[in-house]
Amino acid sequence: MAADNVLGFINGNIYVSFDPLRKVTGLVTCGKYILYSGESEKAERLVKALNGLLIDLEGLTVMPGFIDVHMHLDMLAVSLNSIDLRGVESIESLKKRLREYYEGRLDCEWIIGRGWDQELFKERRWPNRFDLDEAVSDKPVILERICGHAAVVNTKALNIVCSNIDVSRDPNFLRSEDGSLTGVIVEDAVKLFREYYQSSFSEMLKALDNSLKYTASLGVTSIGFMSCDAASLRLLQILKESRGLPVKVRVYLKDTLVDTLLSLGLRRGFGDDTLKIMGVKIFADGSLGARTAWLSEAYSDLPETCGMPTIKEEKLKEIIYECHKAGLQLAVHAIGDKAIDTVIGSFRLIEDEFSNYRHRIEHASVLRLEQIEQLSRLGLLIAVQPHFIISDWWAVRRVGEKRASWLYPSKSLIDNQVKIGFSTDCPVEPLNPWETVYAAISRGKREGIELSKYTSDEALTLLEALHYYTKGAAYFFFEEENTGTLEPGKYADFIALDKDPFEVSLDELLSIKTLLTVVSGRVVYEGNFFKDRLN
Ligand SMILES: [Zn+2]
Repeated sequence: MAADNVLGFINGNIYVSFDPLRKVTGLVTCGKYILYSGESEKAERLVKALNGLLIDLEGLTVMPGFIDVHMHLDMLAVSLNSIDLRGVESIESLKKRLREYYEGRLDCEWIIGRGWDQELFKERRWPNRFDLDEAVSDKPVILERICGHAAVVNTKALNIVCSNIDVSRDPNFLRSEDGSLTGVIVEDAVKLFREYYQSSFSEMLKALDNSLKYTASLGVTSIGFMSCDAASLRLLQILKESRGLPVKVRVYLKDTLVDTLLSLGLRRGFGDDTLKIMGVKIFADGSLGARTAWLSEAYSDLPETCGMPTIKEEKLKEIIYECHKAGLQLAVHAIGDKAIDTVIGSFRLIEDEFSNYRHRIEHASVLRLEQIEQLSRLGLLIAVQPHFIISDWWAVRRVGEKRASWLYPSKSLIDNQVKIGFSTDCPVEPLNPWETVYAAISRGKREGIELSKYTSDEALTLLEALHYYTKGAAYFFFEEENTGTLEPGKYADFIALDKDPFEVSLDELLSIKTLLTVVSGRVVYEGNFFKDRLN
């Protein structure tokens, strides 16, 4: 056996699994897999016999890598590769930020920024293309407003995107009194520019690569890439061929690709252990923030509305039925309890025993108790995002005190044997798993969030949180036998940490750093501690 194939770790504080809790001091990997987990002495003997590389962990903590079952890699890629303009207080400082950013990446094709708000500008006006031209004129620039419904672009960007289209009557391109374009665009025009820069092949390839490396650096070893489009899937394949993906990607394609998938006859599992198609992501309703999540009773802070479905019920039933029959895993976005009723009703139309298909509901933020029991009976999985509890601090206002206990009922789901998996919906919430773990345990209590008063008994323990972020999450990808714990024979997907999460305070969880990330036996991220020892 080749020596470089075998890697051994001794004197560690190694969590093999969290349910049941099992700890060891030694770990040996061979190729892609875990060969041994147990005592340090035995690990050392094994590594020496196989002539492998032995690393003394000096007491460091090792655990299975995090599995984030729901995130948006393409959106993360764009946000990591753009200028953050939140809180900028003047057009002058916006220009300064733009100029500085450009000086740092002269080779970029597009400059993208987001987050500005003209209400904060001391000039008391909207920025225009001439402002941007003063900062950067030779590369196309688009800076989205904080809401994402408006943006300002420079003259170069206007010339590129509008060279072949007639915008003279398009109300989404704002004009000054003399009729000339101001560079401010809204709604469909913003989407048009977005599509344009996202179609830039080399930019997106670089951006996706960066976002995968960022993911690995946080200790996340597998992701569920939600609403993946054809362009991203193609880029991921190219990245995989050229340099290998640092993180395992499980793909849930956009709903607009359902017909393509069905006509190709692709089933769940197509791909390999690095990049694999699971199924499709579809939407049943909107969001609580925008009051478009579909509730069974009106919003407490806007009694005129119950929210709304984003798809006709018949269409939802048809897609669910057809995708199920085609062997695809469904991931259905449903936040309001009425939307969840409809989704449950649609699944009931499938005559087969479908619990072993592991179809998923995404978010399920507002859940009545009897719905939890139905979910359990049907074997539907729930992808939860504990960090919503902190970000959506206004959630109780939306549903009122009476329904407050229906919000994010993680513990009730577990107690009713509903399978849950942790996720971030990144970039909606931070990708850092420790933020999610913290939120699942604290439920906003320390931040003084109203919800914590009503649902403190829905808090999870650290053990539970880590289980549903590792082996519990692996279940979503049908991979609980292959990953999520550090037992021999499983993929060597694990991380090393600078602190033991069980030895620190709740607040200190947030400062835990990943020192090493290994995916299928390959080191994909290494901090300083390991740089010296591995090379
Ligand atoms: Zn999402």
